[in-house]
Amino acid sequence: MKKLTAKKSIFGLIPVMLISFFLAGGMVMADDKAEENKMCDNPFFKKYDTPFEVPPFHLIKEDHYVPAFKKGMEDHKKEIDAIINCAKEPDFANTIEALEHSGKLLSRVANVFFSLYSSLTNKTMQDIAKDMSPLLSKHRDDINLSEALFKRVKTVYDSRDNFKLDLEQKKVLEEYYKGFVRGGANLNSEDKDKLRKINQELSMLGLQFGKNLLAETNGFKMVLDKKEDLVGLPDSVIAAAAETAEAMGEKGKWVFTPQRPSWTPFLQYSPRRDLREKLYKGYIMRGDNNNENDNKEIVAKIASLRVKRAKIMGFDTHAEFRLERNMAKNPENVYKLLDQIWEPALKNAKSEAAELQNIIDKEGGNFKLASWDWWYYTEKLRKEKYDFDEGALRPYFKLENVRDGAFYVANKLYGISFVERKDIPIYHKDVTTFEVLEKDGSHIGILYMDFFPRDSKRGGAWCGSLRDYHHENGKKITPVIYMVLNATKPVGNDPALLSPDEVSTLFHEFGHALHNLLSTVKYESISGTNVAWDFVELPSQIMEHWALHPDVLNVYAKHYKTGELIPKSFLGKLNASKHFNQGFVTLEYVAACYLDLNWHTLKDEALRDTNKFEKEYLEKIGLIPEIVSRYRSTYFSHIIGGYDAGYYAYIWAEVLDSDAFEAFKENGIFDQETARAFRDNILARGGSEEPMVLYKRFRGAEPKIDALLEKRGLKK
Ligand SMILES: [Zn+2]
Repeated sequence: MKKLTAKKSIFGLIPVMLISFFLAGGMVMADDKAEENKMCDNPFFKKYDTPFEVPPFHLIKEDHYVPAFKKGMEDHKKEIDAIINCAKEPDFANTIEALEHSGKLLSRVANVFFSLYSSLTNKTMQDIAKDMSPLLSKHRDDINLSEALFKRVKTVYDSRDNFKLDLEQKKVLEEYYKGFVRGGANLNSEDKDKLRKINQELSMLGLQFGKNLLAETNGFKMVLDKKEDLVGLPDSVIAAAAETAEAMGEKGKWVFTPQRPSWTPFLQYSPRRDLREKLYKGYIMRGDNNNENDNKEIVAKIASLRVKRAKIMGFDTHAEFRLERNMAKNPENVYKLLDQIWEPALKNAKSEAAELQNIIDKEGGNFKLASWDWWYYTEKLRKEKYDFDEGALRPYFKLENVRDGAFYVANKLYGISFVERKDIPIYHKDVTTFEVLEKDGSHIGILYMDFFPRDSKRGGAWCGSLRDYHHENGKKITPVIYMVLNATKPVGNDPALLSPDEVSTLFHEFGHALHNLLSTVKYESISGTNVAWDFVELPSQIMEHWALHPDVLNVYAKHYKTGELIPKSFLGKLNASKHFNQGFVTLEYVAACYLDLNWHTLKDEALRDTNKFEKEYLEKIGLIPEIVSRYRSTYFSHIIGGYDAGYYAYIWAEVLDSDAFEAFKENGIFDQETARAFRDNILARGGSEEPMVLYKRFRGAEPKIDALLEKRGLKK
């Protein structure tokens, strides 16, 4: 659930960050000669001389970005001007296709920069982002708000029936037209100015939020120096904590951090209630410590600015503005789905809490279950009920085996294969690269995998692209995709051993990668994962169904030392315990969905007191105090950039993926015809048609909620 995928805007770039440098006036001050020299060895200005023309990470230096961004915006501006000044009557080719193919240099540098900004950042990268962000935002607005350009687009759109357009062309035209309208093209000049200001302010606030969050995550550590403080923890967790300590200059001690691979096992296994509380709070107080990294005011300001923008755009709320182009269409439909899930989940979570309290009482604990106790007593209960310890599974989930399991599933379903390449430049030593091949050996694309946490990487997991599949002058351009996790690292001589949750996350991001890799849509802006964002999680989440399926585990889940397959008894227990703790899991997620929607259905711009706002909404939905929303506002990065009013998308898509996987259950999980239908109608089609149309073509009917409720044990 904590997964993110980088999502592109119609201009092929990450939404918050976009676009002219000449407008900044007089910023090129270096003399021409020096500038020319710089351009000569700046890899962004040349054709990439690498296998498959992937970015030459080994040559890219931090001082290459700013000149490339500036030149990219300048070139893009010239291309846009050429479209505007074209003497011919506007038509699809000279306006829409010309727009689609504009801004290549800018996309090139932005794709690399923003990918690394998330996974390999530092002070210089942050400063570049801060300097470029307002320029990019202004550049985007200059395009979105250009009257002359919109006039041409509108002319083509209004006379669309006169052109012989195929399905993809019709869709791409519609997306451009609506993109302009949603970008403010229909506004009067006063409102356009207001919009520009708001967009620039929002992009700066978004950057500040992310920077603060990274500082808060890296800033908290729980240092333990006594062996007795480690009681109950598995050896691998202790060893990892010792390595973290050494890396932080605390050799001989043990350090725990708010990073999930460090945080979760401590909460699961440590009987030390005081330490659990301390670590727990280190996580949930991020951005709420009243220090220089505090995010409370930033969140409130962002929400307020979004209301202001929505009003300018003719909507009552930001959520209505955001959801108009989604499958859900409006916030009421989302609330309707959430409410259907909330009631049964709350009921289940309350009985789970009672069971945990029961253990505490039986042990003579004499305290009331708190949120930092939940994981610990859940593990105890799991053991008691199913004689089953999640940690006992890890030896069967060696990262390389899990990865190969994902490859196996893709191969069985679609006939594709993955070959490791050592000749492809990487941006960090932990990254591995694969060439993806069709059954007949033809090239599909490149996949980078970047699995372990580091200080320069933000939290969570995501998938993105350095190049989307598309056609250029009739030639197929193949995709270059990356998937990023923050999974448990190898410790000492042992390999990386994943938790079942991390296994699911790997399959999840791999599903996004497949969506990007298997696209056959000829226009980049509607190719791959460039789809409505409550549809984007279908290809990713459906992969999770294979991750822990017995027929798949029987192939890849081998003990890392003995090679022995996962014992049958474990599979039985995994199956028996599949509804275990699902009340909690569902509730903490749905609570975060409500939090997101509540922020974004505000109808007035008044600045809220963030903590008071959270408290009131929690009371309203009736969340029990033993459970905290999966994200609190001050570290809820999804709703700051990209998934604002959209965190519900995971459960929305879960209705789809659960229903879609039913088709595989009915016909066989590797049934070739079903797999072919899924690939042809969903994976290959990107955003080239309405999601519901694509879905019905695959499934023959609209999705039903039943499979989801059954899966989470919520069926009445
Ligand atoms: Zn995802």
